[in-house]
Amino acid sequence: MNHRMRRFLSAAVIFALITSVAGCGITLQYADGGPASPPTSPEETASPSPSAVVSESPSPSPSPSPSEPPLKLVPFDGIVEHIFFHPVVAYPELAFDGDSKAEGIDKNMVTASEYSKMLQSLYDKGYILVDMNDVWSEYTDDAGVLRMKKETLMLPEGKKPLIISYDDVNYYNYMFTNGFTHKLVIRDGEIWSYGLDPDGKTVYSQELDAITILDQFVKEHPDFSLNGAKGCLCLTGYEGILGYRTMTDTHGMTAEMEARRQAEIEAVKPIVAKLKETGWYFGSHSWGHISLSNSEFSTAKADTERWLKEVGTLVGPTALYFYPFGARPDGGDVRNTGPIFKYLQEKGFRVFASVGMESYSKIKTDISAVICDRMHPDGSTLRTQRDRYLKFYDAKLVFDEARPDYGVNWD
Ligand SMILES: [Zn+2]
Repeated sequence: MNHRMRRFLSAAVIFALITSVAGCGITLQYADGGPASPPTSPEETASPSPSAVVSESPSPSPSPSPSEPPLKLVPFDGIVEHIFFHPVVAYPELAFDGDSKAEGIDKNMVTASEYSKMLQSLYDKGYILVDMNDVWSEYTDDAGVLRMKKETLMLPEGKKPLIISYDDVNYYNYMFTNGFTHKLVIRDGEIWSYGLDPDGKTVYSQELDAITILDQFVKEHPDFSLNGAKGCLCLTGYEGILGYRTMTDTHGMTAEMEARRQAEIEAVKPIVAKLKETGWYFGSHSWGHISLSNSEFSTAKADTERWLKEVGTLVGPTALYFYPFGARPDGGDVRNTGPIFKYLQEKGFRVFASVGMESYSKIKTDISAVICDRMHPDGSTLRTQRDRYLKFYDAKLVFDEARPDYGVNWD
């Protein structure tokens, strides 16, 4: 998240904006007054330095000056590619052990090894991470109506913008026995993952989790990130967030359960703050991972209220919504603007992401909102859509041989 957006978000929190303010990035509207408590994130401090971006590339010709000239920034108005990942598999031997989860993990996830290779390939192909909040912004048109518009990004010459989002960064219970890390923690001022290896031994690592792997990659390659941007963490709420069990129970809470929940809430606050400080930002993936394509309005409303209360209060304002299962509400949001879509927009969401075969996006003309599709690097596309993803990486070169033998359609 860049400096302007940080300042903007702080202002949004402080003043609990009811009306919108035009500016860089997405303008947030909180019909319900916004989060109950301001996020504890030190948003004004330790902004990722943009200097790394402007000084890393070698000068094209030898310069007599000892200081390198700043990298030339050029306007970019083309397609902003958008890909998304689920949590990555830390231990393939646990993920692909033939149990009932193995097939789904193979289809929807990539391994840590594949993910690292994909990042390297994306970097080699000239992609640069941008903050999704900087891609579109809200403004008031001549008639006084709020609209979204696409921003012209200013990028180092030759770079192509890329959004990465990460769904279900919740560290669900089922993942603990299926080869994933268990939670994010802070060690020595940095984010690490905590988990157990196949022998049950405790492991703190920065090489087994999608977040820490990207952190380390950007540290080594600062020019892979525009203004320190990393990715969007798309959170549900039903098993808490980021490995912390911050959720309420639908069957009621005992005093003991509530005390435990409050302890988890306190424990996750510094993790959220550290993630924000290091370029990560957040979006909603619904509270209960519900499919909006077959939800009643009342279900969608209750789910959203619960997300805002249990997750929004912890991660702060967000205008980004990521449909679970990629399922669009109201019979589809491409042409329709139905009651669920309208409700979510009233709650402050402006960009609505589904899943598709390309990085499609469309600014809606009847309401201030953007709809988009994300591409999905995972086992299914690795096995069957090598050509479509060649602009990002070559499945042949990244495919993890630890995967089960389900076949591929390339050789
Ligand atoms: Zn999901």
